[in-house]
Amino acid sequence: MEWYSECWAYVLYSQGFRDTDRVFIPFGYNIFVAFWGAHYAAEKIGCEVVPGGVLDTKARVLKMQELKCTAFMATPTYVLGMADIARNRLGIDIAKELTIEKITCAGEPGASISTTKRRMEEAWGAKVYDHIGATESGAWSYECTEQPGGVHINEAFFLVEIEDLETGELITEPNRVGKMIITALDRTAKPCIRFDSKDVIRWANFTCDCGRSFRLIHGGVLGRVDDITKVKGVLLAPTAIEEVVRSIAELGDEYEVVVSKKGDIDDILLKVELLPGKEGEEEFVLARLKDQLRIKTNIGYRIETHPYGSLPRYELKARRFKDLRVKGG
Ligand SMILES: [Zn+2]
Repeated sequence: MEWYSECWAYVLYSQGFRDTDRVFIPFGYNIFVAFWGAHYAAEKIGCEVVPGGVLDTKARVLKMQELKCTAFMATPTYVLGMADIARNRLGIDIAKELTIEKITCAGEPGASISTTKRRMEEAWGAKVYDHIGATESGAWSYECTEQPGGVHINEAFFLVEIEDLETGELITEPNRVGKMIITALDRTAKPCIRFDSKDVIRWANFTCDCGRSFRLIHGGVLGRVDDITKVKGVLLAPTAIEEVVRSIAELGDEYEVVVSKKGDIDDILLKVELLPGKEGEEEFVLARLKDQLRIKTNIGYRIETHPYGSLPRYELKARRFKDLRVKGG
């Protein structure tokens, strides 16, 4: 746990957490090692930590307001979910009425998807930073306050290698995607040596103005080896769909993708919600969505609009991509 917290302390310090911060953690940790690591790391830096696990979402927002918290940590899904509840159920403008300055995101790729990041930053009036870790390995990466368009590998503790998805050849050049193979350099209780994380990443072709020499990966984790699937013969990363949906201001944050087979042909259905008051613009919005999807993913979609608030909401990791062609999809 000491080692895990030390890894996390690198993450939080690089994102500007200092001993003047009051940090809210809106989850119960139970036996979930990452949040304990984050909690102890924030204390190590000197922050005051407020665990908000027993509260519901409304009470968490009000508690952050009451205590003038300056930072919190959550999945991107929940960062947007809390904003939605604050706005629509509590009538609070969190960007103005709360004092949150920075948010550390983990558990999903959203903070490295530019359109999702923008939605979160605008809703909270705060900087949003990505952190990628895994229980099997540890807190292996972070985005720093420069927000360079990628995350630094936490190279004080981890060796990261990238292997070609098909041949296993080591990739050292930038911009070529492969899967991450990770070694925790001094993890002893549960050694982690050349672990196949199944995360798809690529080296960046830029350096960071923060001055850290730890290497960068471009755009965070692009998906899981299992998520990057062929639909209609085209390789599709679910993060590309998210990037498009969240780029269209008239659409709500939630969406769902269902891939199925109609006979021998793949069918891809995208469900979206129009924001309240935008119903009259449906035709125009959907035409734009279709165009952008075709440009960014090279696939045609069936699109359905659903009433605002009717698609599933999630507190931790979302399951918005459902592939019914595979068992358990
Ligand atoms: Zn940096």
